[in-house]
Amino acid sequence: MIRKDVLDKGFVKLVDLLGGDDTVVRSARVSFGSGSKGEEKDRKLIAYLLAHGHETPFEHAVFQFHVKCPIFVARQWFRHRWASYNEISGRYTVFDDGEFYVPDRKRIREKVNRQGSVVADVSDEEHRAFAEAIEAECARSVAAYRKMIAEGTAKELARTILPVGMYTQFYWTVNARSLMNFIRLRCDEHAQYEMREYAGVIRDVFREKMPWTAAAFEKGSSSEG
Ligand SMILES: Cc1cc2nc3c(=O)[nH]c(=O)nc-3n(C[C@H](O)[C@H](O)[C@H](O)COP(=O)(O)OP(=O)(O)OC[C@H]3O[C@@H](n4cnc5c(N)ncnc54)[C@H](O)[C@@H]3O)c2cc1C
Repeated sequence: MIRKDVLDKGFVKLVDLLGGDDTVVRSARVSFGSGSKGEEKDRKLIAYLLAHGHETPFEHAVFQFHVKCPIFVARQWFRHRWASYNEISGRYTVFDDGEFYVPDRKRIREKVNRQGSVVADVSDEEHRAFAEAIEAECARSVAAYRKMIAEGTAKELARTILPVGMYTQFYWTVNARSLMNFIRLRCDEHAQYEMREYAGVIRDVFREKMPWTAAAFEKGSSSEG
């Protein structure tokens, strides 16, 4: 099983995988009643399918991930509808580990890509002070949340005061076609830094498990861009 740490407390785990490059080839060639024709021809077929938007064969390879990420990253992630999700419930579970994301660098708004951000050109001391301020604010919310739970407030209500930097966990089951769409959108420099950190790990797993498809996909993406 592949497990990679992301950000300060998150991770991505590959839990399960159905199929791979060979599944794509078999699924495509079923139209002609045949299967693999050796690496060279199979790789060419995969490149052809991607280049011509014949993408349904990629739906037969399916990845299942276990992800731990800040809530604001999960919000962006869940916009990818072509996938299945199950998330830890703040109604049933107390966020007893109280884990939240603390960025290690202050970032300021980017001038050209206005929804993006760049690391602020400030001293290490200022970066540290920024991180400490975030940590103190989040810790205050977590302490208030715990107090409310201890006083008998329902979990579903007490959680309303928790910050979006709190870590959540979910299972994500996604086919290779949708996964490529996710990688294309979320590894792009227009995506938020924290999201890109996760998308980069997902891309690494994809490269490892479906090397022929990943290579053809990346070649196609770079020739378009
Ligand atoms: C840099 C960036 C900034 C963003 N900013 C915002 C923002 O400010 N506000 C905001 O709301 N969202 C924002 N998004 C989210 C974005 O609009 C998409 O919801 C998200 O990227 C998921 O992409 P998707 O729809 O292609 O994926 P999926 O939902 O997985 O869909 C995959 C593909 O299936 C097809 N499809 C899915 N559903 C439909 C449908 N209902 N009708 C027709 N075809 C469908 C489309 O071809 C789609 O590309 C942003 C995304 C990025 C990457």
